[in-house]
Amino acid sequence: MPKGLSANQIRQTYLDFFAKKGHTIVPSSPLVPGGDATLLFTNSGMVQFKDVFLGTDTRPYKRAVDSQKCLRVAGKHNDLEDVGFDDIHHTFFEMLGSWSFGDYYKKEAVAWAWELLTEVWELPKDRLYASAFKDEEGVIPTDNEAAESWLAQPGFDPQHLVYYGRKENFWEMAETGPCGPNSEIFYDFGAEFGELTRRKGGQLHLDAPRFVEIWNLVFIQYNRTGPKDLKPLPAKHVDTGMGLERMAAIMQNVDSNYRTDLFMPIINKVQELAGQNDKERDANFTPYRVIADHSRAAAFLIADGVVPGNMGRNYVARMIIRRAARFGSKLGLNRPFLAALAEVIIKQYGEAYPELMENSKTILDNLNLEEKQFHFTFEKGLAKLEDYISELSNLNQTVLSGEEAFKFSSTDGIPVEITRDILQERGLELDEEGFWREMAKHKEISMGGKLQMAGELTYEVTRGAEFYSNIIKKLQEAKKLPKKGVKYDPYTSLERKTELLALLHKGNEVKKVEPGDEVIVLLSSTPFYVASGGQVSDTGAISSASGKKWSIKVIDTIQPAAGAVVHIGEVIEGNPKVGDQALAQVDRRRRQDIMRNHTATHLLHAALHQVVGEHARQAGSLVAPDRLRFDFTHSEALSKEQLSQVEQLVNEWVLDNYTLRKETKPLDKAKKEGATALFGEKYGAEVRTIAIGEAPSRAQRGNKPFSYELCGGTHVEHTGDIGLFLILSEGSAAAGIRRIEAVTGREAYAVTKARNSALAEAARILKARPEDVPAKMLSLQTELNESQKQVASSRRAKAQEGMQDVLENVPLVAGVPVLSASVPGADADALRHLADRFRQRHPSGVALLAGVEDGRATLIAAVTKDLVERGLHAGELVKLAAEPIEGTGGGKPELAQAGGKDNGKLAEALAKAAPWVLEKLKSNTN
Ligand code: ATP
Ligand code: MG
Repeated sequence: MPKGLSANQIRQTYLDFFAKKGHTIVPSSPLVPGGDATLLFTNSGMVQFKDVFLGTDTRPYKRAVDSQKCLRVAGKHNDLEDVGFDDIHHTFFEMLGSWSFGDYYKKEAVAWAWELLTEVWELPKDRLYASAFKDEEGVIPTDNEAAESWLAQPGFDPQHLVYYGRKENFWEMAETGPCGPNSEIFYDFGAEFGELTRRKGGQLHLDAPRFVEIWNLVFIQYNRTGPKDLKPLPAKHVDTGMGLERMAAIMQNVDSNYRTDLFMPIINKVQELAGQNDKERDANFTPYRVIADHSRAAAFLIADGVVPGNMGRNYVARMIIRRAARFGSKLGLNRPFLAALAEVIIKQYGEAYPELMENSKTILDNLNLEEKQFHFTFEKGLAKLEDYISELSNLNQTVLSGEEAFKFSSTDGIPVEITRDILQERGLELDEEGFWREMAKHKEISMGGKLQMAGELTYEVTRGAEFYSNIIKKLQEAKKLPKKGVKYDPYTSLERKTELLALLHKGNEVKKVEPGDEVIVLLSSTPFYVASGGQVSDTGAISSASGKKWSIKVIDTIQPAAGAVVHIGEVIEGNPKVGDQALAQVDRRRRQDIMRNHTATHLLHAALHQVVGEHARQAGSLVAPDRLRFDFTHSEALSKEQLSQVEQLVNEWVLDNYTLRKETKPLDKAKKEGATALFGEKYGAEVRTIAIGEAPSRAQRGNKPFSYELCGGTHVEHTGDIGLFLILSEGSAAAGIRRIEAVTGREAYAVTKARNSALAEAARILKARPEDVPAKMLSLQTELNESQKQVASSRRAKAQEGMQDVLENVPLVAGVPVLSASVPGADADALRHLADRFRQRHPSGVALLAGVEDGRATLIAAVTKDLVERGLHAGELVKLAAEPIEGTGGGKPELAQAGGKDNGKLAEALAKAAPWVLEKLKSNTN
């Protein structure tokens, strides 16, 4: 029997075990991978070490261990469809990982895995199985080293070793690059879960429900340079990952990850809210699984700054919340309930992952808001979809077309993942390929034909990276580029002499380009900044530094692959050639504007901390030349006073003219010194730090900075360079997140100037001094209101005069006064008032009055008592009269009202009165 450890104990003993073997314990990186546009979410432990495997960066340690937050809902790793239906796959899960970077290798990795599993955790040896790699195509060598390591473990049953092929046991990062065989460890739940079966070829089947894969040991051994070419790597690595939830199920002796202590508190809460007993719960466990899984994923996502929205990562947050809400309604949970679950989750995981506690309000607010939206708007769309699907199955069709699914997603906001759920529940299918084709048609943004950007809902930039990596590799082999790739230094100067190393035109490498050509340029080094941390990319020019004259206008700079910084632009003159000496020049003015805005963003962040509180943390930012936008966590609107204080504080700091201290140092050191790190940023071992606020004069030196951030952006030298800082607006960006937009420098001057001249103009018109404009405006406003009131009342008086006339001269129908008139501008009240006056003036008579307001027509019919007794009913008249104006109404015999459209047929409506009275009187005397 496995030892009954709690999940917390499993996590801790794993970390301790590897720490004792010389591994450095590193923290989990956020769910949003830093600086990696090719990946939507961190989906395994190795993501934060990718650059080490690629050889583009190093770490100060050679062995590492961690517990990594992972999310598998997009791209290559997408387990969403399993969630709810099996007991071992989650969207969000914790992966316990251990690494050797060019240090120990297979023998140690296998021996330590065995030691941890069998000695520390005391798993029965006869329950453990392992796989080793054997190539079914017979090309790549069999991993005998791993196999022999397993056979050497004390008590390992040789019958429990299987050989699997490429699909399961050969790991590749991409089409090229680091790769190698892996060895998986499986746990056997026992014969009561099924017979042992064999695959074709004789190897044991180690699949669910009897077996579960618990740990994958990857041995990075080769560098793939082509479909058939593997070269041994000089430095070999070990990368292992174990699913904490699966391990907990084994240790706690339960048959589902959802019945471990990681999930039971959530499941219990769902059960309590749904008011079901255990039997009812177990009879229909799918909604429980989905809700428990998705609420946990959503809480962690929001804590990492991913709030629900329509694009990319934010779309995923919205999709899983909606999916959870839909499964909630299957349990009768028809009001927001996810926040109640999030409270349980925050309490349970908050200690291991403090970001949950720090952002608890944002998490709860966003869940509530998103669920409310689900119930108000989204449910209607769902009903429409369900109707449509019913119709399909009535027509005996089994597939929903991609176009239809796309329509439901784009017009009714139904995530395609939910459409798929509903179809599945009805035994129907979705044409998924058709859906993605449709999506691509609508959303594809293509750059230079080669780079595919992530559009709405499209998850990953899949093309491009490979292509550029190959170019970089070729240049490195030709000794044209160093190991780190293009020398990227946007910090020291705004222009640089460099060499033109590659040119791309229409997606192909070319030697030379012509004027007018769109081109992508790769230089040996560049001063151009690549968009990151909210700061936009540089633009500028590249021109010949010697030889024949040519120039290229640069409109964007991007990094499509590690080590590859490229410039996108157009040839203005001459014939740039590969090998030419070039001068790269950043657009200086634009960049200075950007730097002002970036430094001002740091000041704004610091000022918000002082005025609003420490909880006001950065949740997103844009640093452009013409403005800055800053999102931060705070749940209510800033008051006018707070905004004014923030603006004033920033401007004071600007005028204090602090010198910025920009340094590069180890990440650990920066963090220890208290530097603020932001989510979604890439932090290698070495980081840049920006400190502002140390005393400017020598005498005051030693003051602590009030702003100290990890930041790869570009900044001014002194805060005085910013010029004026002006807040333009403050508003809500998402639940619990506020947004400030502001301008600095030249733009602030332009705004001020425009406002000043508007004020001057107003003063001129008002014949007042600028300072007196508000008072003057106020008195004018009062005067205006007064005279408007006067005009209105005299208009009313005049209308009554007119009506007096109408009331006096009422035509007779069979001797009875019948008034039918339209009263412009009168509302129902005014009409009723008139009807009363009519009845006072005429003891016997019928009135039909009409008024029009905002495109709506109102009819009032009145009949005096004596005529009611003769069978004339106001309700009947008003209904009849309302027909031409497509309205309905009713009321008492003496007074009735109807509403309709102002469709130009009011005269027709009014004309109904006289014949009706005649008809009525006639039929009653007969
Ligand atoms: P499987 O074949 O079961 O989907 P995998 O081969 O995708 O697993 P790896 O990518 O090797 O898994 O990840 C390493 C470990 O992480 C696995 O051995 C497993 O214990 C765990 N794991 C993988 N995917 C999930 C998931 N969706 N939910 C929970 N744990 C997972
Ligand atoms: Mg998998």
